[in-house]
Formats: sequence, C-alpha cells, structure tokens
Amino acid sequence: MKLKLERALVCFISSFLMVTGSIFGTNHWDTPEKYTARVDSLTLFSNTMETAVPQTEVYNLIRNHLASPSADGREKKVLVLGYDGTRVDTLTTIDPANSAITKLSENGYGVISYCGGVNYPRMNTQATSTAPGWCSMLTGAWADVHGVRRNMQPKSNDHLTLLTTAVQDGIADSSAFYISWKGHFSNRLMTYYPEKQYVEEKGLPVKFVQADDDEGTLANVKNDLAQKDCTDFIFFIMEYVDHVGHSSGFDVKNKKYVNAFHTADEKALDILNTLEARETYEQEDWLILITTDHGGCNLNHGRCTIQERYTFMFCNKPILPPQEEPFIIFGAPNR
Ligand SMILES: [Zn+2]
Repeated sequence: MKLKLERALVCFISSFLMVTGSIFGTNHWDTPEKYTARVDSLTLFSNTMETAVPQTEVYNLIRNHLASPSADGREKKVLVLGYDGTRVDTLTTIDPANSAITKLSENGYGVISYCGGVNYPRMNTQATSTAPGWCSMLTGAWADVHGVRRNMQPKSNDHLTLLTTAVQDGIADSSAFYISWKGHFSNRLMTYYPEKQYVEEKGLPVKFVQADDDEGTLANVKNDLAQKDCTDFIFFIMEYVDHVGHSSGFDVKNKKYVNAFHTADEKALDILNTLEARETYEQEDWLILITTDHGGCNLNHGRCTIQERYTFMFCNKPILPPQEEPFIIFGAPNR
C-alpha cells in the first residue's frame, strides 16, 4: 500500500512538472498528445501503443531461437544491441544512411513494447528505470517475480538471467554482458552482483564485463566478434543516450539528446557490419535484436508518464506479440 501511495505521489508530481513545463516552455512543450502523434507517425512498427508488446518478450525471442533445433546445421547465435533510455518518438529523427535500426527493420520486424510491468495507462508496477527494465528482458519476468523494482536492488540468484540459464541448459556454449554503467554489477548493492559471483564460483563461461564508457563497451563487443569462435549470446548496452537525457532532457526537440541517439544508432550499424564481416557468418544463424529499457521525460525516468513507458524492439526474425486485450478505462469492450 505504501509503495502504491509513493508511486501515485511520484506520478502526480511528474505530471504536474510536465504540465508546468509545457506552460513555461521548460520541456519544449512536450505533451502526451504530441508524443503520441509522433509515435503514431512512425511506419517502423507492426503494432500500436494499445497493442504494445511487454519487454519481457525479449527473453522469449532469444530463448526460442537458441532452443529451437537448427534446420540447416547453422550454429545458433544471438546479438542484442541496447540503446539505454531512448524514447520511441526519437525514431522520427532517424538518419537512414547511418542507422542500425533502418538496416534491421528493412528486412526485419519492429514492434512497440512497454516497460514498467503493465501497459499504459495502467499505473506501472515497477519503476521505468534501467535495472528493472533490462532485468525484465533478461529474466522474462516482471519485478513481482525477479524482485528488482528499482535500481540498486541486487537480484536473488533464485531468478537467474538467460545469460546464465542458457549456458546451464546447454542451449548456448557461452554468453557475455557488456556494459559501462556501474549500477549493473560493480558492487554488492547492484543488480547482477550476486549472479556474477555465482557464475564465477561455478566457473561458467558467462562474462559480466564493465567498460569505462560506451567506447569501451563497443571495443569489447568488436573484439569478441573478431574471435573465430565468438561468444554465442552477446548482450550489450550503450548508455550515453540516457546520460545525455539526464543532463539536458529526454526530449526529441533537444538536439543533444537526438545527437546522442544518432551516435548510438551509427555505432550500432558499425557493429552490425562487423558481425556480417565474420568469416563464418554464413554458417551461423544469428538472432539480432535492438531495443531500449525505458523512455524519459524532462530530466528523468522511472515514473509513469507515457513518454517513459514505451520502448521498441527491432529484430531480424519475426516478433510474435502475445494477443492482449487493450486496456479500456471507461466502458466495456465492444465484444
Ligand atoms: Zn536506462
């Protein structure tokens, strides 16, 4: 009950700040209506915000790919490219010539997804924050199961990520998590610290690797992809977009934020080209996925506004959204 009250209060304050920000121009007149119109104008998606896919589907996509038998003898592999804190409406600014999202969606699939445990406009059940977001994708469950409701909350090893279970279950020979944010596993207060200890104690081929910044992460990923027998399941996150959002505004009218997104999308394209240049690429069956953990509004995220709640998923293989009833606030559905 206390948590619910806290969330309601935070929601009220963030909505108040957004309205006052719109009146006084401090958030570039960013309103839910403008956000919705921008997202609706995108032609990248096969669904709508009402039928958004839970971000936990990332887990199912990867697991199904790795676990399904190979029809042609090619080796199953996975590459997940994470753009931390990228609002869906930022995709209206894509530079198609330098975009991994454009490359992947041209011969692939794109859906709108949601974070926070439940689709908007229901009140979110977990913070639209980094740790719960990525953790929900990596465990295929929401915080009521994995327990990570906010940042700086170590996850119990009762709910291991797919990075570890895929290796333990023998559907991947190895996995790697490349990041630079200290909040993931740098000390015992952080999300994956217990799991990192677990895999190290067991000597499992699961790597948790922290670089100093995105450049370091990208170098780690490129170095991995350069190996003849590279890691089977690579999951990496670029975090600069989120940093710029916090320092200058999660806002599609904010040039710094948009530029940070363009940089991430261009670096991701370089990674896709590196992947395709592998000598053994034709003998490998890669699932490639681009996604984000949450959006943002003004200088933050973690709350309940529509700008924070939606995410996206682009994949070279079909994403089959679960059939969910859209949430109706007033009145009953027509059938
Ligand atoms: Zn984040």
